[in-house]
Amino acid sequence: MYLLYLDDAGSVKNSAEKHLILAGIAVFERQAYWLQKGLDDLATGLGHPEPGALELHANAILAARKGSWWRKLTLEKRRAVITDGLKSAQSLFPIQRRLFGVVVDKNARSPEDPVEYAFEQICSRFDLFLRRLYHQGNPQRGLIVLDKSSLETRLQSLASEFRTIGHRWGTTPNLVDVPFFVDSRATRGIQYADLVAYALWRKYERGDGEFFDVIGNWFDSEGGVVHGLHHYRNQNDPCDCPACVSRPY
Ligand SMILES: [Zn+2]
Repeated sequence: MYLLYLDDAGSVKNSAEKHLILAGIAVFERQAYWLQKGLDDLATGLGHPEPGALELHANAILAARKGSWWRKLTLEKRRAVITDGLKSAQSLFPIQRRLFGVVVDKNARSPEDPVEYAFEQICSRFDLFLRRLYHQGNPQRGLIVLDKSSLETRLQSLASEFRTIGHRWGTTPNLVDVPFFVDSRATRGIQYADLVAYALWRKYERGDGEFFDVIGNWFDSEGGVVHGLHHYRNQNDPCDCPACVSRPY
């Protein structure tokens, strides 16, 4: 089985923000332990008194608000924590570690709900990956794991409807159940997804590719076509991101 840990970035309602992002990492079940261990080791190396309780949440790491433990570290060090966190998945087998991400320009998709669009796209692309494995003689099922606090209400209702009404591209037979919602503090997999969503956010919303460049080649792809990263934009907006270069409109 493959577990797809997902988290979101960007607000649906905040019109000052252009994008809505849903992104994360799919890992083979036996690799989930190593994903967790990579981030545990990173947290342990930071000198926190209770590294197991130190949540790696990109916004909190960079903001280092008053009273936050992150204030003990310089901004440069905190940025390195995010980079090192993303790099921690590098040691997993590439076929057993695939990134997925959907970036939606909210205005370009308006008036459609960007959350619904992003969720359908992610599910469809994860299912496509599992179908490809099946045709390679490796039948695997998939399970989506979401952060409890991420767009909770909307995603939860979408998730519960998902198995019964399917999505616009048909059903996703390889997904075993409705997505599970978990507390991000309890699983490093969701924390890794948060880092991926944040890396996409910095690239697309802020034009800062520092974090994205660490993981840019890890999105699901086959034969040079990037399936795992999707950028929905106004067709008149030029874009040279890997998704648009691979699959131009
Ligand atoms: Zn693009």
